[in-house]
Amino acid sequence: MMARWKCGHCAFLAWADDRDAMREVTGSHLLAHAPDAVTRSDFRTNWDCPYCATAKTAYDADGAVDEFKTHLHEHVADRIVDGAHVADRFDWNGTVRIDAPVDSDGADALRAHFHGHADLVIAVTPDPERFVRLLDDRLDAWPRRTVVVSTEEYPFDDEDEIGVDDGSIEMVEIDPRLGPDELGETISRIIDVNHAAGDVLSLEVSVFHEIVSSFDVRTACAFVRMLSARIGDSGGALQLYVDGDADPNVSTVMNFLDDEVDLGITPADGRFIRRS
Ligand SMILES: [Zn+2]
Ligand SMILES: [Zn+2]
Repeated sequence: MMARWKCGHCAFLAWADDRDAMREVTGSHLLAHAPDAVTRSDFRTNWDCPYCATAKTAYDADGAVDEFKTHLHEHVADRIVDGAHVADRFDWNGTVRIDAPVDSDGADALRAHFHGHADLVIAVTPDPERFVRLLDDRLDAWPRRTVVVSTEEYPFDDEDEIGVDDGSIEMVEIDPRLGPDELGETISRIIDVNHAAGDVLSLEVSVFHEIVSSFDVRTACAFVRMLSARIGDSGGALQLYVDGDADPNVSTVMNFLDDEVDLGITPADGRFIRRS
């Protein structure tokens, strides 16, 4: 779980590992709201807090700004919420867009964050071995059930260093010629077979770029709408990993899907920032 802070001046919302890690987020953000609070004169840097009567002057410009950020942080420290999960924002029943390259550290941090709190994890991934090793590495314990869907083969049961009983992971190898309809149906069936009452479901789709590049906009949109509706039935968090900067077509499709997305997140330096 993480620490969460929402700015009282704007819609900014952020998650960080803990209160300490949040200090830099709050300080920098509040500083941006008060651009006139820091001034320079006579080789010195002055700051004048907009929230209280505190003001300081120092020769060390960086030190002064750091001190001001820490001071600003103290004004909001009691508004930081502990034990927060990103999926609390939509009660673990919705679709989240994660703006990051699928194989980036930021994407991995969100995978661990979501899958680490689920009983049933389903991942549609281009690289099943990387996925299994990531979960094995990052999670304190494996979910009750993990189903990895990929066009790539990965006989993980040959890998004795993976710390999980074979029975709790299933590899589903799909034909690369499958269209989004059939892939959606496959995922839906996997949910049917594996979802037990009360299970928290975490469904990751890390092949959205491939779907968009292989099919038209309408087909890619229909795929996400179908999965969103399916998630709506059973409850769960659908994560779409998208990197709009890398592919303008993906960006276009995501614009069409704005209504389907409950939360947009950008990971940065171990922190998660709400994008929409
Ligand atoms: Zn703000
Ligand atoms: Zn103050």
